[in-house]
Amino acid sequence: MRKWLLAAAAIYAITVTGAAAQGYPTRNITMVIPFAAGGPTDTVGRLIAEAMTKALGQTVVVENVAGAGGTRAAGQVAKAPADGYQILLHHIGMSTAPTLYRKLPFNVISDFETIGLVTDAPMSLIGKPGLEAKNFAEVLQYVKTQKDKVSYGNAGVGSASHLCGMLLMSTMGVQMTTIPYNGTGPAMTDLLGGQIDLMCDQTTNTTSQIKGGKVKAYGVTTKTRVKSLSDLPTLDEAGLKGFEVAVWHGLYAPKGTPADVVAKLTAALQAALKDQKVIDRFADLGTEPVAQAEATPAAHKKKLESEIARWRPLIQAAGVYAD
Ligand code: ASP
Repeated sequence: MRKWLLAAAAIYAITVTGAAAQGYPTRNITMVIPFAAGGPTDTVGRLIAEAMTKALGQTVVVENVAGAGGTRAAGQVAKAPADGYQILLHHIGMSTAPTLYRKLPFNVISDFETIGLVTDAPMSLIGKPGLEAKNFAEVLQYVKTQKDKVSYGNAGVGSASHLCGMLLMSTMGVQMTTIPYNGTGPAMTDLLGGQIDLMCDQTTNTTSQIKGGKVKAYGVTTKTRVKSLSDLPTLDEAGLKGFEVAVWHGLYAPKGTPADVVAKLTAALQAALKDQKVIDRFADLGTEPVAQAEATPAAHKKKLESEIARWRPLIQAAGVYAD
């Protein structure tokens, strides 16, 4: 009798799980963005969410859960039901947080299913409109003489702008005063208003301001120049030899999300990355979708693991930690 009951329970569990996955999705899906609206992660998320909506036949709704350098949102999704209705778009911060944070309330590997990579966005070093420095050499001079009187905006410990600033300061051997925001969308507003001096941010947020002459631009953080900003030197060319940060983005679901639900999300992501509107907007913003082979759970997991290993010694050498 007991055996029979156990077998029936197992069949019931398989049927229920299978049925849930089969009909998926039957309602809106929430895509959690770990930074404020109007910033670069938000821009990428909204473009992808719109294109995934077409592929999934259900609306992918964007929700901004900003705070703690992007770790608040990751913590929320780590604890969400593993049913595919709450997913997370995050960036390079998922690979730096495990080293930067002494007490991270989630595990980036064991609490998430990877869905696929999305895009690699270059960063750019920009300054407030009235800043006198005309090029990177002059920024360097300015920062070296003014030191902590120079303010640098970032999106909190663990954000890409934090990482870029940390590398800049340790390479230049100078400390600036860091002003944290909930995202670089709001930081850009303050930079435009002259409240902060410098910021390093994805070209997905800075391209139109640079092209419109609204901010000073000093260089991009990739090894080669960015096509849509070809007049702008790389920081490596400008004198910071070997300086390189590109902000990779990936989609995550809570651990235990059924494999066939993850497969549907991966297929929708791949369709979104082939969407002409996404390709064109990404190109305008200085980036491009990853190759289809990268928009897979395995490629994403490999990237996450290798990036954790890559950043750990650099962060440890910089000696920057948060609680
Ligand atoms: N660009 C930000 C960062 O520094 C985040 C954002 O607002 O998208 O990570």
